[in-house]
Amino acid sequence: MQFVHDRLSQRAVFATGGAADAVAEEVRRLGASRVMAIASVRGRAEPVLAGVPVAIWHTDVVMHVPVDVAGRARAVAADHGIDALVCVGGGSTTGLAKAVALTTGLPIVAVPTTYAGSEATDVWGLTEGGRKTTGVDPRVLPRTIVYDAALMLGLPVPTSVASGLNALAHCVDAMWGPRADPIDRTLALEGIRALTSGLPRVVDDPTGLEGREQTLYGAYLAAVAFASAGSGLHHKIAHVLGGMFDLAHAETHAVVLPHVLALNAPAVPDLDRRMAGAFGADSALGGLLDLEARLGAPTSLRSLGMPESGLATAVQPILDASPPNNPAPVTSPVIEALLRAAWDGKEPA
Ligand code: NAD
Repeated sequence: MQFVHDRLSQRAVFATGGAADAVAEEVRRLGASRVMAIASVRGRAEPVLAGVPVAIWHTDVVMHVPVDVAGRARAVAADHGIDALVCVGGGSTTGLAKAVALTTGLPIVAVPTTYAGSEATDVWGLTEGGRKTTGVDPRVLPRTIVYDAALMLGLPVPTSVASGLNALAHCVDAMWGPRADPIDRTLALEGIRALTSGLPRVVDDPTGLEGREQTLYGAYLAAVAFASAGSGLHHKIAHVLGGMFDLAHAETHAVVLPHVLALNAPAVPDLDRRMAGAFGADSALGGLLDLEARLGAPTSLRSLGMPESGLATAVQPILDASPPNNPAPVTSPVIEALLRAAWDGKEPA
């Protein structure tokens, strides 16, 4: 057995119904007295920061963190002598806190309100002129995550479904990402189990805590596994499409994932069998398709607004980004066929 598993150093506090106390405690542990509160919707975040010394609120949050948005947030942090960042929101909000931490080294306490998982990775992303650049830097890894399933109760069902499938995509890519190891796979499989159990309950009972808790737990495992395994083919495709055509991030994952699973699973029968077990199905693809149908997930790139002309232009950037260790060969005809099926909303073979 030969592998290197690099574990990220971070506290994760699960505190259903207790975010305010947990965040106040985490800020105290950091010794911070001038906090920059980052949130897209201040009203949603205010109760969470009730016990925190907030020096300034910052609500200028934009998906995929355009560089000018990052620049403004960094200037606000500098102007107010900030000593810690607390972000309350989805991946876009966490992404902005990371952009500030990247240049300032300020510690982050992250309170996620979607299942995107950015809070558990050391990956940052910035966009400029329609191109998204990502990188890895230990400074952007939040010191602490506070997970409170009660904060998810207002997340609309379609957003919850898409975001939960974004988390599921982290699990699937963690099975064969460039650095995937046995520990990542174990976490990813438990993530698949938790998401497969939690998401249908969220759909059936969006204001119930149990489904929300399971889904949040699964999303955390997914992100930890993904951060260690690295981006596989699925994430490369989703990032190219999202960046080129400004598609909704989580929904793009939901549409593309079955097509990548259909491509890769036959090349790795052992991993297919283990994922099938986690889905409680005969095959990983069967399990995913049943789950997506049950959840009413989006199925076509066309419905997300991708132009048909983009099918041709996206192929080369995907080939350029494709990881060399992908289980199935990745060629131009393979990607063309995959994109066409995903655009049409055809069930993958
Ligand atoms: P998002 O943060 O933009 O949130 C989606 C929508 O949900 C927004 O309108 C937001 O206001 C709303 N929302 C969030 N929480 C809510 C709640 N509790 N109740 C009601 N509405 C709520 O989207 P996202 O999918 O969470 O994040 C996408 C971004 O995160 C992308 O830029 C993506 O690249 C990035 N991301 C980064 C990583 C990483 O490791 N760096 C991982 C995953 C995603």
